[in-house]
Amino acid sequence: MNGQSAPRPRDRRRDQPIPLNRSLPRSRMARLVMKFGGTSVADIPRIRNVAAHVKREVDAGHEVAVVVSAMAGKTNELVAWCREVSPLHDAREYDTVVASGEQVTSGLLAIALQAIGINARSWQGWQLPILTSDAHGAARILDVNGAELVRRFKERREVAVISGFQGIHKETGRITTLGRGGSDTSAVAVAAAIKADRCDIYTDVDGVYTTDPRVVPRARRLEKVAFEEMLELASLGAKVLQVRSVELGMVQGVRIFVRSSFDRPEDIDPHGDPPGTLICNEEEIVEQQVVTGIAFSKDEAQISIRRVQDKPGVAAAIFGPLAEANINVDMIVQNVSADGATTDITFTVPAADYVRAGEVLAKAKPHIGYERLDGATEVAKVSVIGIGMRSHAGVAAQAFKALAERGINIRAISTSEIKFSLLIDEAYTELAVRTLHSLYGLDKA
Ligand code: ADP
Ligand code: ASP
Ligand code: MG
Repeated sequence: MNGQSAPRPRDRRRDQPIPLNRSLPRSRMARLVMKFGGTSVADIPRIRNVAAHVKREVDAGHEVAVVVSAMAGKTNELVAWCREVSPLHDAREYDTVVASGEQVTSGLLAIALQAIGINARSWQGWQLPILTSDAHGAARILDVNGAELVRRFKERREVAVISGFQGIHKETGRITTLGRGGSDTSAVAVAAAIKADRCDIYTDVDGVYTTDPRVVPRARRLEKVAFEEMLELASLGAKVLQVRSVELGMVQGVRIFVRSSFDRPEDIDPHGDPPGTLICNEEEIVEQQVVTGIAFSKDEAQISIRRVQDKPGVAAAIFGPLAEANINVDMIVQNVSADGATTDITFTVPAADYVRAGEVLAKAKPHIGYERLDGATEVAKVSVIGIGMRSHAGVAAQAFKALAERGINIRAISTSEIKFSLLIDEAYTELAVRTLHSLYGLDKA
């Protein structure tokens, strides 16, 4: 794989039209990436179960590279340890610590595979290597070398078990990590590098649903989701896939298939059409709904700047310093000035950056000129996503009415071509998601 932003010329294999079903070619051996998330490798019996899934594909004649996450809860524990030692720790050392979780699982799975007669070898990010930028804690993959894996598929029928989430920065030689949920991105990057026929993301749900099935039991599994919609779902809170993995899949043309690791391996036909969700190009989706799904995020905070001077250059004075501090501003609402002299500006930032944003704005106060800052952290962003919105008017208006009928106040609104987001009080999140889910006909029968 070359740089992520510049797709290389497509090879013949991927230029062929993508078949509408999700099954692998029967006529020839396929090449697969199988990624298993934290819950799927949470303990030794589950690692054995993963090994059985891998064996099933190997026995079917496929070439397999596996990407694993750390055991459930492990990364959280490692992150907490870094914070406990020092809240303001060195990001390079953070990466050294948190990358260790995946190293353990890759070794354990390789052992489990060998124990059932499968030739397997573990690989750390620095060994392949998976080269990344030096943005420690949130590094971007720049290049994956899959040549050795492919050689070993051919010569030894060896399964590669790769630690997800981690890479190496070439110039410094230091270990990097890809941000939380980054094993998905490792998997898609490896799939692109070895030109896999499909990248299977095995997780604790059996696909992508119309909304988080743990919050709305009536959520429906989607057969197919367009890359663009999945990008919005993921970036607006549906953590089933890391945003970068979807971007990369879109650019590199990787077929991503989200499926359950809890299905019994012996019940699955490796040449069949398994249950799950295919992330694909828009053209492949025959029945396009207006609304595809609903995402939500409680990791938001709202900041209101009261009585800002209403004159040219003020927005730049506010948002410039925030951008310099690497704080992502999302929804922005500016009131029309009542007195012609001052106005209020409200916007959202990630909850994790709330305190820092306040500090940045306080420092810039003499330059901006405002009366005071108000803030709220008990807020949530609920977003409605669907490519069909491009050609349908009035979709958001329906939501305003339905939420008003439930007494839910909307603090801010933002819209784009295929989604709109509403900022509400956090306490109403579940009610709002369920209300909108029914409103747009997404509930399962
Ligand atoms: P893994 O450890 O396998 O990477 P994650 O916890 O990162 O798994 O992601 C899977 C979780 O994503 C599910 O358990 C589910 O609660 C959550 N989720 C949120 N939104 C959705 C959605 N729209 N469809 C499916 N799962 C979702
Ligand atoms: N173990 C990492 C995390 O918990 C990466 C991943 O699971 O995708 O964020
Ligand atoms: Mg995940």
